[in-house]
Amino acid sequence: MRKIECISVFDMLKVGVGPSSSHTLGPWRASQRWIAELKQKGTFNDVEHIHIDLYGSLSLTGIGHATDIATVLGLCGHDPVTMDISIIDLEIQKIRETKKLQFNGEKEIDFSIVDDVKFNKKFLEFHPNGMTFRAKLKNGKKTSSSFYSIGGGFVVKKERKNASDKMKSFLEFPFPIEKATELLAYCKAENKPISEIVLENEKSLRTEEEINAGLKQIWDVMLESMFIGCHTEGTLPGGLNVKRRSFEMHQRLIGEEKYDSPEDWIIAIRRTEVKFRQILKWVSCFAISVNEVNASLGRVVTAPTNGSAGTVPSVMMYYMVIENHEATFEDMKRFMLVAGEIGSLFKKGATISAAMGGCQAEIGVSSAMAAGGLTELLGGTPEQVLMAAEIAMEHHLGLTCDPIAGLVQVPCIERNAMGAIKAINAAEIALESDATKAKVPLDKVIETMWDTAKDMNSKYKETSEGGLAVKVNLSDC
Ligand code: SF4
Repeated sequence: MRKIECISVFDMLKVGVGPSSSHTLGPWRASQRWIAELKQKGTFNDVEHIHIDLYGSLSLTGIGHATDIATVLGLCGHDPVTMDISIIDLEIQKIRETKKLQFNGEKEIDFSIVDDVKFNKKFLEFHPNGMTFRAKLKNGKKTSSSFYSIGGGFVVKKERKNASDKMKSFLEFPFPIEKATELLAYCKAENKPISEIVLENEKSLRTEEEINAGLKQIWDVMLESMFIGCHTEGTLPGGLNVKRRSFEMHQRLIGEEKYDSPEDWIIAIRRTEVKFRQILKWVSCFAISVNEVNASLGRVVTAPTNGSAGTVPSVMMYYMVIENHEATFEDMKRFMLVAGEIGSLFKKGATISAAMGGCQAEIGVSSAMAAGGLTELLGGTPEQVLMAAEIAMEHHLGLTCDPIAGLVQVPCIERNAMGAIKAINAAEIALESDATKAKVPLDKVIETMWDTAKDMNSKYKETSEGGLAVKVNLSDC
């Protein structure tokens, strides 16, 4: 029997802390998993000293992506979903000054961020984002464990390389899906839209109440990240001196409208008279706002990654404040179910890791996810939903990852705005097309993306060794 990986929408849309899912959320989760391993082996209480080696892309862009900080926060027992992000700077400063770390919040050990987190240029064989945790125990023995952050906050172990069956979860979804053609076949056979097929799969994992609560939380974090971004002035951290732009952009767009909360804000935006050029500005403003929050270690939703966290919510907001003023949570739920499924098709057939596939794997996938979600809400057939996702990716193929100074700022922040606008355009083109005669099926563009990823020079895969990253100097900024 053919085994198919079952990926939940909650695997694709996850609450995390910026600036990167592969370089921040993944290493954070890896720290938590290592602690769980030590506890399982009964060696946690014997640990006297720890040391972390970061490899490949985690090392090359790790400082700009706050990989060391995220790893340390995980070692301290913090969780990226619940941690009060306003204390991150203080917490790190304390560790730097005292050279002590509260290991999992349970025991104090000596730890120097500078000396005990090592950035190695070497790439490990399994994946460009490798990291090894090492511990010295009371009895003098040493233990180590390696993890790989494979994009979107997913973390795997090395030993699974040659055991692909183990890498996948083979839960029994009622509608197992590996390819877009299978998804479409279920829609036709059941006479259901994509969101309903995906919902049936989710219901095999959790109750509908839990699904609703989880998706509501995801939407709330998305909305809050847009709200915070649009209401925060200043300069982003990291040394590039990038000015936060969504604040002034938003002020010009919202004018004199008054509101008290993110929910009221939606109503206030609906009251503004949005003209064509302003649509582009509003969507860009929403996307930029999320990624400014992300760049300042704020809380966002990976969709499918942190670097591309602004595309999906900005297109959802576009639907709510421009396309349909009566939009409800039910609409947002359908959007997220479709977007999550499209993202999982890319994860199964290609990659959502920029270290494996460049920016086409992040912004390209986020644009395809947003295009698919929007198309279903605008009344598109399942064929048109898949066509919209295909168009969005087709025009991101080959997009490189070249963040200046290793920071998820330039070109990343604007790139989300571009991904969002392309998603809306892709949806409109698909809605005007006979998608049953699409020349390029979604599965083919996923295969093409993966082939392109494999051919792409590593300079353009989240290493900051090529492209804009080597053309622009920090001293010029
Ligand atoms: S260039 Fe794209 S893939 Fe690379 S860090 Fe920025 S958003 Fe992520």
